[in-house]
Amino acid sequence: MTAPDAPARRVALVTGAARGIGAAIAGRLARDGHDVVVLDLDADACAATIATVHACGRQALALAADVSDERSVAMAIEAATAALGAPTILVNNAGVLRDRTVAKMSLDDWETVMAVNLRGAFLLSRAVQPGMRDAKWGRIVNLSSTAALGAFGEANYAAAKAGIQGFTRSLALELGRYGITVNAVAPGFVATDMTRAVAERNGMTFAAMEQEMLKSIVVGRVGAPDDIANAVAFFTDARSDFVTGQTLYVAGAPRG
Ligand code: NAP
Repeated sequence: MTAPDAPARRVALVTGAARGIGAAIAGRLARDGHDVVVLDLDADACAATIATVHACGRQALALAADVSDERSVAMAIEAATAALGAPTILVNNAGVLRDRTVAKMSLDDWETVMAVNLRGAFLLSRAVQPGMRDAKWGRIVNLSSTAALGAFGEANYAAAKAGIQGFTRSLALELGRYGITVNAVAPGFVATDMTRAVAERNGMTFAAMEQEMLKSIVVGRVGAPDDIANAVAFFTDARSDFVTGQTLYVAGAPRG
């Protein structure tokens, strides 16, 4: 029998969970007692995350899907529901960069970043709603970024991540009555493949980039994926049901 104050087992779906922050979130949600759907572009790339979830004694499912594609998202939710049950925790984590100044930015750079970071969150949040409403319980957490406050050479990404915050607040208004909370986490600089690629594109070593970033991080270290997973876990906790429509900056310094 479940102890009275033990958290209920839920099915969580994390997008972009093959690596980086998404993988850490999937692991944390498994440690918190949930089964996890690990969604990414390539199902084989999800193997390590799946192993982490299994090591926590939870069920896991790897799903290949493109979050920016309506049909792909619909098929993923159908497959997840058939295998593990309707997801009642959704973490919209998948994201991409196409950094250029606006003068040099192609329409494709703009559209790709909007499609993955913003449209993806819309498509997934819409697709999980029937299951969450049936359960009269849900947690949606969207990944924003400190870039939402303005970032040189990232106008597309900044617009998408600022858009995430407006989307989060609006969806929170729509879903509160169904027991569904919607919040956002806005990371600062976190060491992942994404930031390693930025360093490489800028012709810097990762260590040099970290030193540069540390100038504006007051806690004296750069972020780790688990720092972000911890914030997501706060929002997904059953006891956080009075917290909705918020964006939490997790950046090692005051932001926002
Ligand atoms: P990452 O290391 O680049 O991982 C992102 C994952 O998302 C990859 O596995 C990628 O797959 C997947 N993905 C990309 N496009 C997708 C699509 N259309 N459908 C499904 N999956 C897709 O990124 P990260 O650093 O962990 O970042 C995770 C989230 O945090 C993103 O939303 C990012 O914008 C946000 N964030 C990160 C930082 C940071 O400092 N790292 C700061 C602020 C916000 P492929 O490998 O196949 O491309």
